[in-house]
Amino acid sequence: MGAIELISVMGHEQVMYCRHKETDLKAIVAIHDTTLGPALGGCRFWNYRDEHEALMDVLRLSRGMTFKAAIAGLHLGGGKAVIIGDPARLKSERFFRAFGRFVNSMSGRYITAEDVNVRVEDMNQVAKETRYVVGISSRPGGSGDPSPVTALGVYHGIKASIAYKDKRTSLNGLTVAVQGCGSVGRNLCKLLYNDGAKLVVSDINRTSTDLVAKEYRAKVVDVNDVHKVEADVYSPCALGAILNERTIPELRAPIVAGAANNQLANETNDGRRLLDRGILYAPDYVINAGGLINVSHELSGYSAELAKNDAKRIYDTMFRVYELAEKAKIPTSEASDELALKRINEVKTIHASKGKEFLNSFDNQDWIKSDIKNRKIA
Ligand code: NAD
Repeated sequence: MGAIELISVMGHEQVMYCRHKETDLKAIVAIHDTTLGPALGGCRFWNYRDEHEALMDVLRLSRGMTFKAAIAGLHLGGGKAVIIGDPARLKSERFFRAFGRFVNSMSGRYITAEDVNVRVEDMNQVAKETRYVVGISSRPGGSGDPSPVTALGVYHGIKASIAYKDKRTSLNGLTVAVQGCGSVGRNLCKLLYNDGAKLVVSDINRTSTDLVAKEYRAKVVDVNDVHKVEADVYSPCALGAILNERTIPELRAPIVAGAANNQLANETNDGRRLLDRGILYAPDYVINAGGLINVSHELSGYSAELAKNDAKRIYDTMFRVYELAEKAKIPTSEASDELALKRINEVKTIHASKGKEFLNSFDNQDWIKSDIKNRKIA
């Protein structure tokens, strides 16, 4: 399928390519849907095999952001950027400033942030060239690393899952198997441990597991076995596509609730497989929305307290998803898509009834603070 056909099949509004010869920057930005607001989504830096692989990734990820923002109740649409190449070779101030200029050329229809292989320091360079960036630390009110708030949202999502399935209000004495002890996994382990949970963890990085084992008395298991652990909750916080034809029959936890993006290898079949096995699955983009909620607060004037309070509401959203899934006898992944689409379609009707074409961008959002809109760039 050609690029334009792909874009129309997946329902994107716009896809933009950038090539900056001097820095060897090759990037693609995809804006999926701006019904609810300007498209916000992180920038992923990856050594893709080829351009097609990068395009597929940015189309899939940007579409996911539309659903994530919609179900989290944010005034944001879905977008994403990918940079093609080897981060270790290419990263520099010039490089990210060139990327910042590319983002700036979209006049605020796309707002960028960090993602895989892109750190807060890199976004600080991007911010020298554009106002359309969040998740930075270089100015007062920047929200910095979103991982602690993502972990907080996942923690409340896990609490909602045990409450829904077993009417339990506390994690005390329950076992949670956490796959991946990186930025989110480690923060999550702390919250679970403080709530009395017993932890089983795995990571390909020995230093990460050593730390969690020492601080939170976690038992360490092999990376190939963590999903098979007899636990109350399995919490994937590392890779995508870990719920698939091979792993789902091996799961022994009645609940899967973790931070990793794109956990289902095949959205339709694997969502159904989990339902058929009676496993309660917390849809990834619902439970891991804390990071997005956190950066969105940066736009309205950052307060860590308010961001955390909003992330806690993931508890209620999980309940809405679970209730719809049970009532309609559909996988929870389908129920969350349905709720997200319902919100987008309702807002679309309001736009239509106003009788004018809306072009949602950063600058025409009343909820974005004026000092953020007008901030000076270098
Ligand atoms: P991270 O890179 O800090 O941590 C990932 C960890 O997973 C690393 O410690 C890595 O060694 C480990 N890992 C890699 N392969 C593994 C394997 N096969 N088995 C076990 N461990 C393995 O990333 P993060 O920021 O903690 O994010 C974790 C997941 O959550 C990712 O899927 C990310 O996309 C998603 N997510 C993160 C945020 C956020 O705020 N950071 C927000 C939403 C979603």
